Amino acid sequence: MSIRIIDIKCTGCGLCVPPCPYGAVEIIDKKAVFKDNCNLCGACIPACKFDAIVIEAERSKMENIDEYKGVWVTGEVREGKIAAVTYELLGEGRKLADKVGEELVAILMGKDIKGKAEQCIHHGADKVIVVEHELLDNFQDDTYAVIVADLVNKYKPSMTLTGATFRGRSYIPRVAVMLGTGLTADCTALDIGDHEEGKQLLFQTRPAFGGNIMATIICPYYRPQMCTVRPKVMKPLAPDESRQGEVIVEDMDVAAIKIRVKLLEIIKELGSTVNLEDADIIVSGGRGLGGPEHFSVIRELAETIGAAVGSSRAAVDAGWIPYSHQVGQTGKTVCPKLYIACGISGAIQHRAGMGTSDTIIAINKDPEAPIFDFATYGVVGDLFQVVPELTRVFKKALGKK
Ligand SMILES: Cc1cc2nc3c(=O)[nH]c(=O)nc-3n(C[C@H](O)[C@H](O)[C@H](O)COP(=O)(O)OP(=O)(O)OC[C@H]3O[C@@H](n4cnc5c(N)ncnc54)[C@H](O)[C@@H]3O)c2cc1C
Repeated sequence: MSIRIIDIKCTGCGLCVPPCPYGAVEIIDKKAVFKDNCNLCGACIPACKFDAIVIEAERSKMENIDEYKGVWVTGEVREGKIAAVTYELLGEGRKLADKVGEELVAILMGKDIKGKAEQCIHHGADKVIVVEHELLDNFQDDTYAVIVADLVNKYKPSMTLTGATFRGRSYIPRVAVMLGTGLTADCTALDIGDHEEGKQLLFQTRPAFGGNIMATIICPYYRPQMCTVRPKVMKPLAPDESRQGEVIVEDMDVAAIKIRVKLLEIIKELGSTVNLEDADIIVSGGRGLGGPEHFSVIRELAETIGAAVGSSRAAVDAGWIPYSHQVGQTGKTVCPKLYIACGISGAIQHRAGMGTSDTIIAINKDPEAPIFDFATYGVVGDLFQVVPELTRVFKKALGKK
């Protein structure tokens, strides 16, 4: 891609200079000039009243694009169990596969996991490709990336869906680079649509520009069309044990894959009582807590009612709680039965991660806080009075001390 100025149109008015977030446009001799740090973001284009700036892309296309068929879900196996996100993606993948009339394939990598393959079939897969090896017991980016890239080159799927988990976010971009195709990260909606660039493309929708717009992205010229989807966004199908499918065990020389990282030790994070993404109840704290020490108020309520502890990004950025607790656009997406937000204003980026919770209770001393616009129940009050009182009442009701 390249950017250029149409000389006869440019008046040197300078309107294109301020919108550039990188300071990459300057006016020299009454003409706009792009510096080397221009990253072709295009922010200057709408600012130009004279249509004098154009980005030109050389369009190339894969030659054998029609050979690519089928929807893949690259599954996730953690501690010997298939992670819930795999089933969520299979549920969504089933819909996509039915729309395009192709098969849905699950990829499972791990140690001794062949016996688990049937579960993917019960959740919608037509076929499961299993790669088993003891070296796959613990996740390694390089190994996983090479395996998936090799399988794609062999079987040529048209689209791949991967969980936007720590693992998925880490290895699947490497796969996209190895295959020379595009990847849309953190999708919140997927569909099949017709487009002037091609029929039955994967329409990949995700929040953009800080969550203020939803962008739908297509990958018309390369295959596979790759995306990651956050856990808890898609719904799994109810398992159907009568479903039949094929299980293929791929014999790959996993030990020969060159890895650049040596796994020394796995240290589990201490203190997190319940996994946030799997929790039925979450108690979250935000900047309203005023300091790290006050998360004890949140933890006490959470422990009392068997909840996980979440937080806003403001609390994470302040260093009050580790990132693994962050809920929102750049944190985790959760969908518990009950979400209790304490001292959280309800910014759009926080809502992006918890807005689909079944019941939301907001405790905030500002009656105008945006969170009250979408909370199921709102308590206008000081969290330092309301939360300990809730804890006290729950302890009494649950017979806890
Ligand atoms: C690209 C991008 C990505 C982002 N990703 C995320 C994300 O993933 N998650 C996220 O959370 N944010 C995210 N943010 C930040 C987001 O915009 C907000 O800044 C953040 O959510 C604010 O956190 P907060 O609600 O804790 O703090 P604030 O907005 O400062 O709100 C604090 C609230 O506490 C209330 N309060 C204060 N004292 C008390 C008290 N004693 N009792 C009761 N209420 C009290 C106040 O009335 C206020 O409403 C992102 C921002 C950007 C630009």
